[in-house]
Amino acid sequence: GPRGQQALHGKLALGSVRHIVAVASGKGGVGKSTTAANLALALSRLGLKVGLFDADIYGPSMPRMLGLAGAEPTTTDSAILPLENHGLKIMSIGFMVPEDAPVIWRGPMVIGALEQLLRDVEWGELDVMVIDMPPGTGDTQLTISQRVPLSGAVIVSTPQDIALLDARKGLNMFRKVEVPVLGLIENMSYYVCPNCGHREELFAHGGAKRTAEEMDCPFLGEIPLDIRIRETSDAGTPIVVAEPDSPHAKAYAAIAQALK
Ligand code: ADP
Repeated sequence: GPRGQQALHGKLALGSVRHIVAVASGKGGVGKSTTAANLALALSRLGLKVGLFDADIYGPSMPRMLGLAGAEPTTTDSAILPLENHGLKIMSIGFMVPEDAPVIWRGPMVIGALEQLLRDVEWGELDVMVIDMPPGTGDTQLTISQRVPLSGAVIVSTPQDIALLDARKGLNMFRKVEVPVLGLIENMSYYVCPNCGHREELFAHGGAKRTAEEMDCPFLGEIPLDIRIRETSDAGTPIVVAEPDSPHAKAYAAIAQALK
């Protein structure tokens, strides 16, 4: 159909979605998905209609993180309906394949699956769609950046040199395809001992802010390493919803406010 043809050339049309924001990272394990989920939830708490698209096709974590493990989307003749929880509309390749089954597709199939999901999911009207990108700066990430009409990208990094180096690559990739980089977030920025209050800077601290300055891009904020951030995500209700008055939830809320 016409939508199929559209998909072959230029940008995908996502008509009733006003803004699409990619959450990216140069490497895996830095907390990109955790950040994407909490930011989406924080944006939703600001009164926006928010969708979350999990494009981390080799390691989709949204079903579990948002309390939808094992859930399956409803399909109609022409569309797939997103799942809903915590006020978000959510779609993930994780809803389509068993949790312990590896996705063994090669690049073109990954792109094909992502494009099909983006096209065929009936998102309805959204103020913003947050895309949890696959980690890194390979072909898939580049293609998504070129094919999806992104309003901008947010890059998550830990303060470690190696992660920051990769974050720079991500930043440069988005700049190359003329996607505005909305800013850098430092995750696992520091650790405060819940017993004695001692602050430890496990991966050093402040590197993302410095990198943002050097790369002439906004710095959006820092999120500490905290067991409640992990526990609430693992339990399917991220901290922004589980503990909205916590300082961490407020840190995500401040970043959401800056993005709004
Ligand atoms: P990525 O998407 O970059 O691979 P994830 O968001 O899946 O990373 O996070 C990796 C692991 O680290 C998860 O178990 C997650 O709960 C945990 N994690 C992420 N950010 C934090 C944080 N700020 N504090 C504590 N644990 C975190």
